[in-house]
Amino acid sequence: MAATRISDKEIERLSFEMRELAYNLWWSWHPSAQQIFKELSPFFWEDSNHNPVEVINWISGNELRGRLQDEEYCEKVRSVCKSFREYIKKKDTWGAKNASALTRGPVAYFSAEFGLHESLRIYSGGLGILSGDHAKAASDLGLPFIGIGLFYRQGYFLQQLSADGWQQELYPSCDPAKLPLTLVRDKKGNPIVCSVEIGHTSVSFQAWVAHVGRIQVYLLDTNLSQNDERSRLLTAHVYGGDQSTRVGQEIVLGIGGVRLLRKLGISPSVFHMNEGHSAFLTLELLREQLHNGKPLRTAEEYVRQHCVFTTHTPVQAGHDRFDRGLMEGMFSKFLGSLDMNINQPMQHGRVHPDDWNETFTMTVLALRMSRNANGVSALHGKTSIEMWKGLYPGMPEEKIQIGHVTNGVHTTGWASPRASQFWTVHLGPRWVEKLMDANFWHKVIDSDKISDGELWSLRTSLRRELIEFARKSLREQHLRHGGDGLTIFDNLLSPDALTIGFARRFATYKRAPLFFRDFRWAIQVLTNKERPVQIIFAGKAHPRDDAGKMFIQEIANISKRVDLFGKVVFIENYDINVARYLISGADVWLNTPRRPMEASGTSGQKVVLHGGLNVSTMDGWWREAWDGKNGFKIGEDKSHGDEHAQDEADASALRSVMDNEVIPLFYDRGKDGIPHKWLKRVRHAIATLLPVYNTDRMVVEYTKKYYLPKK
Ligand SMILES: *Cc1c(COP(=O)(O)O)cnc(C)c1O
Repeated sequence: MAATRISDKEIERLSFEMRELAYNLWWSWHPSAQQIFKELSPFFWEDSNHNPVEVINWISGNELRGRLQDEEYCEKVRSVCKSFREYIKKKDTWGAKNASALTRGPVAYFSAEFGLHESLRIYSGGLGILSGDHAKAASDLGLPFIGIGLFYRQGYFLQQLSADGWQQELYPSCDPAKLPLTLVRDKKGNPIVCSVEIGHTSVSFQAWVAHVGRIQVYLLDTNLSQNDERSRLLTAHVYGGDQSTRVGQEIVLGIGGVRLLRKLGISPSVFHMNEGHSAFLTLELLREQLHNGKPLRTAEEYVRQHCVFTTHTPVQAGHDRFDRGLMEGMFSKFLGSLDMNINQPMQHGRVHPDDWNETFTMTVLALRMSRNANGVSALHGKTSIEMWKGLYPGMPEEKIQIGHVTNGVHTTGWASPRASQFWTVHLGPRWVEKLMDANFWHKVIDSDKISDGELWSLRTSLRRELIEFARKSLREQHLRHGGDGLTIFDNLLSPDALTIGFARRFATYKRAPLFFRDFRWAIQVLTNKERPVQIIFAGKAHPRDDAGKMFIQEIANISKRVDLFGKVVFIENYDINVARYLISGADVWLNTPRRPMEASGTSGQKVVLHGGLNVSTMDGWWREAWDGKNGFKIGEDKSHGDEHAQDEADASALRSVMDNEVIPLFYDRGKDGIPHKWLKRVRHAIATLLPVYNTDRMVVEYTKKYYLPKK
């Protein structure tokens, strides 16, 4: 074939489109788009934590034009840019057909964290991941939707372990110029600056916009020279600082978020508060109404009609509470602008409005000021009613407006490139549009479509990818601690062994060390030569959570024992990237929260597409998802009174399910070396879980139940 010369005009156009594409996080859920940037500079791609903006800005226009002269590369770029353009332009979306009532007033979704990509470190854990996945699904569905969050310049910390296994927190600054973010400007090109009153100060903020496919997420940032030092640092860290920093951040998010929307000329028809952090937005909406001369009752009713609230925390201690003095101080100027004293808004934040000694609770404010509220799994919905029924004296429980929408994950964003390719080959490229289609995924049961050999080959290669990633990460950690024995890391972990993944925030209720409660049992399972088992851990503890850090240290110490070396490992710096390796490579995803403290949990949903199986206590999403054949349960679907008894019972149930079900099934091999019965479970897990526990289903449910106006 004669090489066709690519026209200069096309090269100009493609290099322009690539730059544009780098600034739309659409690439974060399209592996072929990541590939075109990765190929430009594999080194820089890794070095920047997979950030196309850094890669494209690092490459000169000349070099890029040079690369585009290559017909093969150019064709890939052409095809990616074409898919991107088609995605953005698509008119007949689910939203266009089913949610046209929101076209004039979009959903404004407020969240203190957004986990969109590993290079944008503005999330700490599950709540952020959920917001990021919600935004991506809203884009895929074509829902009129705007996200509001904060831009944390130093983000959430990077985690390293010291030589004795103690968590160290690093806070390098992010340079927004190197991130897929654009400063929000007015028509004349001047940065848009708004302000909020915090205490006696007026604090200015600007906003960065992240384009996420068809939708935008605005991130507010107080780091402006006109602010004093303290105000500039307000948005430096995710959940950083003391109580007054916390109130300050929440004022920027809630009140500032509404002001930014107004400045942009956007009138949302629904304000969705994802967790109580943004609940001050209801006070700003109230202020607007009163300012327009509405009487208090009418104003409050207006606010309630426009707000919905999702709670995520089934424990009292997890809810933001602020004492009266702090609230009065922080709101002095804000309330001064109103014909209102502190008592009125304070009352909305107390379960017993007239009890002056009660602290102000964000969740209470959010519940009082929204038309609907929900928990994030069926059990959590019930737990939430139990927790907050005091707000509705005399009302029967079934009348309380707290429902539930079980969380999901943005499946295509979590798919490892290899898994994505696998489903494209076996089910065709349109699998990405069939995420809610149970009939479609039922095909996976059929071994004519996909043979056990093919499925096992996927599992085997994903496991190897994880193990090589773990070896590299541990080698780096070892070198940092001044070690040298490099070759020992080449044999760490076995690519053939049953691999358990455990990765999540190291909050103590998640009980990371539960597996080791009977240490002799654990040693015997982990050192078994015929049926080897290994565990890979990862997770960050909150900087102020010493008990969580002690759990990390305990795991780190176990991993250093001579008899367990290379069988138990802890990978540092759990983030979206580390998560993707773990959820794709693990055969078994271990989840041991102390029920009912895991409101939903989502990490176990990410393993499904990769052929992993869940082993979990009956909490959150798993107790609705488990059907006896699509994974394994630890213990029964019931709550315990006493924590110690619960831990004992769950540890014992975990040992029993490992000994009697998980390990025997995994090592029950045919003559071909393939665990056919295991794979039958895997197929069943995909068919039953994938079409349900995803954010397309979740966002559709939110739209129908809560976003659309009731007829
Ligand atoms: C999915 C995910 C979480 C949430 O996992 P849970 O199961 O809800 O604990 C937290 N952090 C990261 C990086 C994740 O990818």
